[in-house]
Amino acid sequence: MTKSSSSSLVIREATVTPVAFRDPPLLNCVGVHQPWALRSIIELRCEDGAVGLGESYGDADFVQLLEIAAEAVVGADVFDLNAVRARVDVAIGDRVTRDAHGLIGKSSSLKTRLSIYSALEVACLDAQGRALNRPVCELLGGATRRDVPFAAYLFYKWDRHPGGEADAWGEAIDPQGIVAQAREMIERFGFRSIKLKGGVFPPNEEIEAIRALREAFPTHPLRLDPNAAWQVGTAVNVAEALDGVLEYLEDPTPGLAGMAEVARRAPMPLATNMCVVSWEDIPEAIRLGAVKIVLSDHHFWGGLRLSQSLSTLCQAFGLGISMHSNTHLGISLAAMVHLGAATPYMSHALDTHYPWLEEDVVVAGTLGFADGAVSVPEGPGLGVELDRRVLKRMHKAYLDCGLVRRDDTGYMRQIEPRFEPNTGRW
Ligand SMILES: [Mg+2]
Repeated sequence: MTKSSSSSLVIREATVTPVAFRDPPLLNCVGVHQPWALRSIIELRCEDGAVGLGESYGDADFVQLLEIAAEAVVGADVFDLNAVRARVDVAIGDRVTRDAHGLIGKSSSLKTRLSIYSALEVACLDAQGRALNRPVCELLGGATRRDVPFAAYLFYKWDRHPGGEADAWGEAIDPQGIVAQAREMIERFGFRSIKLKGGVFPPNEEIEAIRALREAFPTHPLRLDPNAAWQVGTAVNVAEALDGVLEYLEDPTPGLAGMAEVARRAPMPLATNMCVVSWEDIPEAIRLGAVKIVLSDHHFWGGLRLSQSLSTLCQAFGLGISMHSNTHLGISLAAMVHLGAATPYMSHALDTHYPWLEEDVVVAGTLGFADGAVSVPEGPGLGVELDRRVLKRMHKAYLDCGLVRRDDTGYMRQIEPRFEPNTGRW
């Protein structure tokens, strides 16, 4: 068989740049966000000069594996994603990165390999799009929607990091503070769904916060996510108290068996980004009826194309699908928007931390919220460009800030030495 004459696009250089940027003191069940969030920026330089961009986690052990994989894909063609994945599989093998902060569920070697591959897959798709002068959403089958809806992501928070200056958002540690935060976020970005990160205060206080949101926003779908902080009985009590109020309850309790028990007794559907986090979790989750909505995340489900496969699978089993978010920059947001546009079945508005960002690493002007949605960027590939001055500054901040991994509990203990994560307390 003769090979076609189509030209290849070989990766000549692959760089991983860890960066740090300001993050507000957002509270969760294991502690509080540190003053700096860490991410990694991937650049694949191809033989024709095109550069593909990717973004992922910035914890040191993840960055180390990403660097190994980046070296391994040099020489591969960005259009040959199966070869890129095979190279990643060989380079990473059975190594496992841990969920050090306890918020994104269990770890496995498959999840680790897919997380590493994802960062590179997005960069390959960006390079493909630039080479073909086509947006990534067209490489994924075409945009089924131009505007991708997101939810307001509310957090209990302090008004400042200890020793720092007050941020623009102010304090939110009670229902009034949460409602004020929601008003500000909806005024600025137009969100039409609201999610509250819970697991911070006793469940009754968080029920009151949700009721206050319902009163202030009578028609916005509401969600509550305590990151598996509650025991089964507590989760059922909260679910019953919020019957008719919540669109869904997210990860009320740990593990598939516990979630299945809550699901049997809760009046509203359960969602997860903690107990169904990899392909190997799906058969048991379906068998137990543990969840009704899977919060996908291309950063650990294996990239944009496999996230589309997850959508198809969820639809086949009658499950809803949306997207989970960690603190992230604009490359990740652009990838989420292209994926959200090109995936016909996406049942709920997506999560994003983007409104909490003070400064982005991509050039301003292509990503923005209108009526709670982000429009697909118009340029080729992901449609975003790196601001190299900001990248340099954020890399210096990474080197200077002294953090090598996210540790919300350790940071909280610097402030409250006797702090214990709220998991299992209620
Ligand atoms: Mg969650």
